[in-house]
Amino acid sequence: MGIVNAGMLEVYEEIPRKLLDLVEDVLLNRRPEATERLVTFAESIRGREKTETAQEEQSWRRTSVEERLKHALIKGIVDHIDADAEEARVKYGRPLLVIEGPLMDGMNVVGDLFGAGKMFLPQVVKSARVMKKAVAYLTPFMEEEKAAGGGRAQGKVLLATVKGDVHDIGKNIVGVVLGCNNYEVIDIGVMVPCDKILEAARLHNVDVIGLSGLITPSLDEMIYVAREMQREGFTLPLLIGGATTSKAHTAVKIAPVYDHPIVHVLDASRAVPTVGALISPEQKRKFAADNARLQETLRSQHQQSRDPLVTLEAARANRIPIQWRSEDLPQPSFTGVRVLQSAVAPHVRVPAFETHGAPLGEIRLEEVAAYIDWGPFFHTWGLRGVYPAIFNNEKYGETARKLFEDAQTLLRRIISEKLLGLRAVYGLFPAAAFGDDVAVFADASRSTEVERFCFLRQQKEKEAGKPHRSLSDFVAPHETGLADHIGGFAVTSGLGLPELLEEFRAEHDDYHVIMAEAVADRFAEGLAEWLHAKVRKEWGFADPDSLSIEEIIDEKYRGIRPAAGYPGCPDHTEKGKLWRLLQVEERAGMRLTESYAMWPGSSVSGLYFGHPQSGYFGIGNIGKDQVEEYAVRKGLTEQEVERWLGPWLGYNPG
Ligand code: SAH
Repeated sequence: MGIVNAGMLEVYEEIPRKLLDLVEDVLLNRRPEATERLVTFAESIRGREKTETAQEEQSWRRTSVEERLKHALIKGIVDHIDADAEEARVKYGRPLLVIEGPLMDGMNVVGDLFGAGKMFLPQVVKSARVMKKAVAYLTPFMEEEKAAGGGRAQGKVLLATVKGDVHDIGKNIVGVVLGCNNYEVIDIGVMVPCDKILEAARLHNVDVIGLSGLITPSLDEMIYVAREMQREGFTLPLLIGGATTSKAHTAVKIAPVYDHPIVHVLDASRAVPTVGALISPEQKRKFAADNARLQETLRSQHQQSRDPLVTLEAARANRIPIQWRSEDLPQPSFTGVRVLQSAVAPHVRVPAFETHGAPLGEIRLEEVAAYIDWGPFFHTWGLRGVYPAIFNNEKYGETARKLFEDAQTLLRRIISEKLLGLRAVYGLFPAAAFGDDVAVFADASRSTEVERFCFLRQQKEKEAGKPHRSLSDFVAPHETGLADHIGGFAVTSGLGLPELLEEFRAEHDDYHVIMAEAVADRFAEGLAEWLHAKVRKEWGFADPDSLSIEEIIDEKYRGIRPAAGYPGCPDHTEKGKLWRLLQVEERAGMRLTESYAMWPGSSVSGLYFGHPQSGYFGIGNIGKDQVEEYAVRKGLTEQEVERWLGPWLGYNPG
């Protein structure tokens, strides 16, 4: 039996050899006198003065400069890095030799520990910060001596988020991790059109291109980039990564259009070995062949794995059974649009908003912060687990705790200095369902239709008694004559984020760049949660007082806020209607890209449904009959609908 003080967890490899042997002897029962030996050792250090221990903690400062650099890199300590880099520069004579020597050696240890699961992403990013600071210190000297350019990076990797997509936390993390492993990373940002990507690849003569994307329309854009690479005769390996990408999609849709390796990279920890194998003269042939074989298998599995579907007509006859009663449809305290904003620091550039007569209210950052769900924050950093239980994780509980403390420190600063500005537009409207569409009316007379949202319906074969769901089922059908409503919202926490990122970039602090993006993301989701609670009150079904914030974050309330692009309403283009209805761009400065991604990145939008029976579900595969009809309802061609809904088609289009 053992007791661990998580607060004192060390990198295993860093525990002094003698102590480690003695402890392992006890834990692993390696020798009969193990206990006595450990006790004797303990006696030998007992009674030392506290100051001595503190001095010992600083003892790494008395080791050689190489050891100090390595220690600082592994522990992520930036305090002495300029002085140590200077000492090494003098000792080695040339700054480049410091980078390629002790600094690279240290980063290799970090890379190995990360690869072996002994260090975790937040620590690695902190190590990268130390490396960057050291390199930033040495760079002017290199320029001075005109050291024949660049050093010997292992290889050059171009990273870009494809056209129409804005999300880049994941890409930034991959960039940092590759950078730590001595790859030169050229990150050309977000919303990058194909021609710019290929131009940069040629200009920088890179070895690998990595494409990133968050939303489903980006999957199509990635196919386009691969096709263009084929057409223009590229032979570079292509990496595919991001939230909606998958091994299957990469194999089925992207790999067939390009004759050279296309590899799906699951997360940052896989990026290094993958890039390494792809450019190593010894490994690349075998790696590409294995990858191609895996993709061949995935393609044949894909052919076989289609769910049987029922006709759209049959699905409609089996809609969610709801007894429509007026007592389930409270009348909201207002209809129309409202705008909310938080105060921001004077240095934040705020665009000129136009509220178009909508009432303007106030949001307080600290109120919203209480609604933040921290679980997904840890996922962003590659730490899997449930908050707050994650702090007890035996492998990375301590890492998670440190990460959380750093997030709280930044959060407090953001709140007290008003570094992020929040902005919300939302509305409640008279509405009625017409088939699978929901019409939105100008006023309670329900005579003028101002918008019509189109929903899809599940078509997968189901057991008896299970309905074929559509979100439209949650709004009272027109023929009931009941006065129902629907709501919509768009929120952002992106005001001030560019300024904050700029501050950290100027300090070469990637750790806080990613941290600030991650916290801004949490603020946007927290704002969506906070606003939803407010809207439930205004709609006439306030949460019971007994409902805790934890339960709210767990969605234990009445009503839902489905977001376009998510499983219940996978069509991203419906956001265009929400933007028109709420005049989101003028009122909150949030824009939709050509792929219907929201800009700035830390934005959330969705619709509100209030019926007590409303809940989330996934549409799943849909049939050609539904696509044909949906195209007519949306005023698009069938091919356009097939393009937007590619991943959900239950058949092979054209
Ligand atoms: N607490 C989480 C909330 C975001 S995820 C966080 O902070 O990250 C939950 C949101 O995803 C929902 O509020 C809804 O907007 C969307 N969502 C989840 N499942 C959905 C579905 N099946 N269809 C549509 N939207 C869905």
